[in-house]
Amino acid sequence: MAEKYYFSIPDTEVPRIVIIGGGFAGLKMARSLRSAPYQVVLIDKNNYHQFQPLFYQVAMSGLEPSSIVFPLRKAFQKQKQFYFRNAEVIKIDSGLNEVQTDRGWLAYDYLIIAIGADTNFFGNQMIADHALPMKSVSEALYLRNKILEDLESALNIRDYEERQSWIDIVIVGGGPTGVEVAGALAEMRKYILPKDYKELNPKEIDIHLIEAGPSLLAGMSELSGQKAEEFLLDMGVLVKKNTQVTSYDGKTVTMKDGSVIQSRKLIWAAGVSGNKISGLPADVIVRGNRIKVDTFCKVEGSDNIYAIGDIASMVSEAYPNAHPQVAQVALQQGQLLAKNLIRKSNGQTEKPFKYVDKGSMATIGKNKAVADLPFMKLNGFFAWLIWLAVHLLSLIGVKNKLLVFLNWIINYLTYDPSLRLIIRPRVPKKV
Ligand SMILES: Cc1cc2nc3c(=O)[nH]c(=O)nc-3n(C[C@H](O)[C@H](O)[C@H](O)COP(=O)(O)OP(=O)(O)OC[C@H]3O[C@@H](n4cnc5c(N)ncnc54)[C@H](O)[C@@H]3O)c2cc1C
Repeated sequence: MAEKYYFSIPDTEVPRIVIIGGGFAGLKMARSLRSAPYQVVLIDKNNYHQFQPLFYQVAMSGLEPSSIVFPLRKAFQKQKQFYFRNAEVIKIDSGLNEVQTDRGWLAYDYLIIAIGADTNFFGNQMIADHALPMKSVSEALYLRNKILEDLESALNIRDYEERQSWIDIVIVGGGPTGVEVAGALAEMRKYILPKDYKELNPKEIDIHLIEAGPSLLAGMSELSGQKAEEFLLDMGVLVKKNTQVTSYDGKTVTMKDGSVIQSRKLIWAAGVSGNKISGLPADVIVRGNRIKVDTFCKVEGSDNIYAIGDIASMVSEAYPNAHPQVAQVALQQGQLLAKNLIRKSNGQTEKPFKYVDKGSMATIGKNKAVADLPFMKLNGFFAWLIWLAVHLLSLIGVKNKLLVFLNWIINYLTYDPSLRLIIRPRVPKKV
């Protein structure tokens, strides 16, 4: 048997907390353990934190990718007793208290699983093979390239029907991501295409938003769903509700009722499923591939393994279907678990998790957003201003905040960002 290769991280007198995932939950937790009596090791398969709520603006050429990601090492430059490892965790060995990664093994005293979720294609392999997901900054960049490349191709196609399939876009899923993408595409069609692609007729570009349920923004209030739909219809988006997409082969989108749309782009924003990690007992993996935890975020049946954020499923009276998979839950769980482990080290009692819902929002376009706040529901300009402020303040890093703010001002004033670049990664020839 091959010898186990261990990470070279010094042993210390204090217990070691290993956090898998530097997303909203893992990053918050690691930062909240600053000066705690623990050694903290953060492992992530990427060497950066991603701000997922603004992926769609990267895909729509509105923001640079570097302004919504943040290097994880930089985030912890000043934190003592902290180590980062860029590796993918493959397996947990709970008997030995060790994790296996693609770069070696590591022992833990406490293990925190904060691996988030990935796109859910609901087992439809054909859709998975051809649709465009948006669950990472690289997928958002790929989508940006694809939109721009297809417009370039369309310019040289004389046949009307054939050209349509290159310029029409289908978005599946009427949640916040689908609604935001549809709105941003409609604005791109109105303000950018007439300047950049004068030979194309913007009126010929169809943007379809397809939702399986009876309303848009199902997780928000009825009023917000209706308002979002009104905004989108007003912007010329073709909204189809109660419609299920059953297959897509890269050219033809087929619906359950037999209707079809010809499009070379199907953006899939119809749901997420927890990322997989092996080694946990099968009975703790529940609906949506989430990990069953108690009110202290502890994985059922374990003493020292916890799960937080999108991957965790904590069922309570208030949340019988577990918490929504949103940033606030991840942040609050990350913070509470850090505080609880500090309490534990001081011999104090740990506190159960209680989610403080600060509301939800979605933006449809300039001056158009909907917001369900704890004290009121807003739509239009004021909701949009709140959306801008909340997203700006939530970004990691002062430089990122400034860059995004500057970009937004320029985009608002000129309606003409200059990021419509087709940048294809190129693998160098072997020497
Ligand atoms: C397009 C989009 C828009 C969204 N918009 C909003 C919004 O407007 N408001 C809102 O509240 N929420 C929004 N969300 C949801 C929000 O982003 C998530 O709820 C949040 O990111 C969950 O945080 P997390 O820490 O659980 O997981 P993530 O933030 O997904 O972090 C998981 C981390 O784990 C790492 N990882 C995964 N597997 C492994 C492994 N095996 N080994 C090592 N590392 C691993 C990943 O690289 C990643 O860094 C949006 C999500 C998407 C995709």
